[in-house]
Amino acid sequence: MIRFLDNKVLKKYKGKTAILRIDLNIEKGEEKSSFRVSAVLPTVRLFLKYGVRVVLISHRGRYGGKGRDRAISLRPFAKILSAELGKKIVFVPGFDFRKIKAKIERSENSVFLLENLRFRADEEQNSAKFARKLALLGDFYVNDAFAVSHRKNASVVAITRFLPSYGGPLLKREVDNLERVMKRFKRPLTLIIGGAKVSTKIGVLDYFWRKADRFLLGGGMANAFMVAKGLRIGDSLYDRSAIPKIKKYLKSKNIFLPMDFRMEGNSILDIGDVTARIYTREIKKSKTVIWNGPLGYFEKKRFAQGSEKVAKAIASSKAFSVAGGGETTTLLMRLGLIKKFSFVSTGGGAMLDYLAGKKLPGIEALR
Ligand code: ADP
Ligand code: MG
Repeated sequence: MIRFLDNKVLKKYKGKTAILRIDLNIEKGEEKSSFRVSAVLPTVRLFLKYGVRVVLISHRGRYGGKGRDRAISLRPFAKILSAELGKKIVFVPGFDFRKIKAKIERSENSVFLLENLRFRADEEQNSAKFARKLALLGDFYVNDAFAVSHRKNASVVAITRFLPSYGGPLLKREVDNLERVMKRFKRPLTLIIGGAKVSTKIGVLDYFWRKADRFLLGGGMANAFMVAKGLRIGDSLYDRSAIPKIKKYLKSKNIFLPMDFRMEGNSILDIGDVTARIYTREIKKSKTVIWNGPLGYFEKKRFAQGSEKVAKAIASSKAFSVAGGGETTTLLMRLGLIKKFSFVSTGGGAMLDYLAGKKLPGIEALR
């Protein structure tokens, strides 16, 4: 059983300090409109309601402990979160945790934000020494960062050895909704898979292979299938390493490939109108829909049409719908459709690992 935070736990820690692992892994320029920021707020509010002080910890970017880099500092989020919560959030730079502890103890404030943990190499090394020092800052630990729970990092895994540890409310929602579409789904179940990083998505295809009724493909995933079938795709994006792994699926009648396209030069950049219509029809027949990966190069408006049509079809269907992935979520934010989905995951890689049936180290550490 995963230990999740509940009212009983919160009451017990009134007046104490929680170390809350959140996910502020947000690209520069996207800070203010981020789905991930909005996902953090309810949990912080919950702690405040119960009189629990909070030390927020996160990473930002892939960094490997090369020291400081202002571009991926967490500092801007102190202001952003303060404004959202209507409460001062104290940014605490540096990693001298003894000093930080003294500072927190002296402070009148109740929410603190530490600097990007990946400025330190020991974070990604899952260092017990680093985690033990970090653990000094609080009385208990809460993981509400589903999106990084597939990483064996000190602030996700090693820290749970030094403090009573719980899964946060957001982590719980992630697990509950993903379990539902994996194990307690209603048929017909439709998976829509697009995007660029094909090899990271094969595991999901494998897991759902005998479960889902339909797979609607687009983007690099569809391109890889077409190459594997011996079709020519010109200069279109595809992932060569995925070809051997999809060979076994080529003859399946449950796999839908695009039959018309939007092109530029010699490249397929979106599904065409006929395909969008067929995909919409399949979505309307479904009782459960899982979507990861845009069906075209949606950053350019002309090639966003296919993904938009599919997004709207899901949004207006009665199906239980789950979406996720960095770019998929960006697209849904832009369309204002997040709330129209039953659940939108904050995870990219973590969601794909979970939907592939893999165990996530950050979640296993809470058992
Ligand atoms: P997610 O982050 O949602 O999991 P991916 O990271 O796998 O999705 O892929 C997202 C990217 O795939 C987007 O930047 C999009 O432009 C690109 N993409 C999708 N289809 C195509 C295509 N046909 N040609 C070029 N790029 C594509
Ligand atoms: Mg992505």
